[in-house]
Amino acid sequence: MERVVIIGGGPGGYESALVASQLGADVTVVDTDGLGGSAVLTDCVPSKTLIATSELMADLADAPELGVTFQDAEGDEATRVVVDLPRVNRRVKQLADDQSADIGRHLERDGVKVLVGRARLDGPERVEVELADGGQQTLEADAVLVATGAAPRVLDSAVPDGERILTWEQVYDLAEVPSRMVVVGSGVTGAEFASAYLSLGIDVTLVSSRDRVLPGEDADAAQVLEDVLERRGMTVMHRSRMQSVTRDGDTVTVTLTDGRTVEGSHCLLALGSVPNTADLGLVEAGVTLDEGGFVKVDRVSRTSARGVYAAGDCTGVLMLASVAAMQGRIAMWHFLGDAVAPLDLGQVASNVFTSPEIATVGISQRAVDEGELAVESITLQLAGNPRAKMQGVHDGFVKLFCRLGTGIVVGGVVVAPRASELIHPVSIAVAESLTADSLAHAFTVYPSMSGSVAEAARQLHHRPD
Ligand SMILES: Cc1cc2nc3c(=O)[nH]c(=O)nc-3n(C[C@H](O)[C@H](O)[C@H](O)COP(=O)(O)OP(=O)(O)OC[C@H]3O[C@@H](n4cnc5c(N)ncnc54)[C@H](O)[C@@H]3O)c2cc1C
Repeated sequence: MERVVIIGGGPGGYESALVASQLGADVTVVDTDGLGGSAVLTDCVPSKTLIATSELMADLADAPELGVTFQDAEGDEATRVVVDLPRVNRRVKQLADDQSADIGRHLERDGVKVLVGRARLDGPERVEVELADGGQQTLEADAVLVATGAAPRVLDSAVPDGERILTWEQVYDLAEVPSRMVVVGSGVTGAEFASAYLSLGIDVTLVSSRDRVLPGEDADAAQVLEDVLERRGMTVMHRSRMQSVTRDGDTVTVTLTDGRTVEGSHCLLALGSVPNTADLGLVEAGVTLDEGGFVKVDRVSRTSARGVYAAGDCTGVLMLASVAAMQGRIAMWHFLGDAVAPLDLGQVASNVFTSPEIATVGISQRAVDEGELAVESITLQLAGNPRAKMQGVHDGFVKLFCRLGTGIVVGGVVVAPRASELIHPVSIAVAESLTADSLAHAFTVYPSMSGSVAEAARQLHHRPD
């Protein structure tokens, strides 16, 4: 029986453990901070649970347009809906803990051994574990999968104190609603939290070092989001690079490199992530790291050391839970001799959970503009969609890309409430190389937002010559 040792119990680790055990391997997962990893305990699951509350708040803010108003017990108009943040945070943490426990039960059911402790490679075929309850254990391995994730990047000039200067892992300990939140960083994490806190009724300033928010996303989509956020009252500061964050009592001050300052009651730092690859014995085992410390892997998750695979955020390959899980599964399929196709990032569907959401799959507008592929594209505003009108949705669009000539769908962008769900038909079209006509021919419900996906595809139709 092949012995597989997996270091890290996040999606990169636990999903690969399930595959390896299904294929008959003897599998041990070593994890230090809790099964589910950052994805379940501090990042993905908690933030999306917080965002579920913020979505409800955003819907309530739009209620008057749909004819709903609020009254107090005396029948007077009530104009404020307030959030009980400690209660929200308790729910967030409970849900994360429950999910972590679910993963533990699943692994146990599938015969995976779990060790709680910190692991380190001793060469490519041996793993030393410092157990959390004391003692050491040595594991011999035919294959090792490194899936140790990443941690929030912090700077010496902006040290989180866990009370008012916060990383995204610390916000769920907030005992009171911030009166003014300054979010530094306008990538996906910064934008999601800024959008969520704004919907929760908090005064938010977003400090962005770039010309616009979400520099890595579709520019049209980012512009819609920025317009909506500003319309709802967020202050977005462009070309504003943070130099330092300091705290004086209840006030935090963000100082920018040009000398300007921004004050708030709290500051959330969203400055990206650094890989958890130090002190793991990787280099000594023959594993090559890049200059940022990320593990270099090929498309079947092999590192430069024979028998050592890596998956997830520690590789820096599109840092998403779904990608981490797929990299891990691919590693195990490859090592254990199952059918395997190399990782194809061109098919990854991803979503920014702002309000509205931004979902993308396949080729990007930037790649098209750079001439990577000759495509035709169509952008359809959601405002014309009947369901959108009924629901009071005014912002957003569906954008589709298809290959010139064949009409095969190669990508798309959806900006809408629940865009994460609406992108799925486009994702299937990209994965299955469907043409725009095929996408257009499938029935959609009337009235529905997905009708706009089919309508966009219909507009890409060419009559045969
Ligand atoms: C705020 C935020 C929101 C996000 N939201 C989403 C989202 O909505 N959708 C999405 O797809 N992605 C999301 N992501 C990204 C996602 O969380 C990561 O891509 C994912 O966690 C990567 O999984 P992983 O298995 O590589 O690492 P992790 O989830 O970080 O797990 C790594 C595990 O390894 C353990 N570990 C580390 N070192 C050792 C060691 N030496 N020995 C033993 N164990 C060790 C850690 O304790 C941890 O449990 C979000 C990220 C952030 C920051």
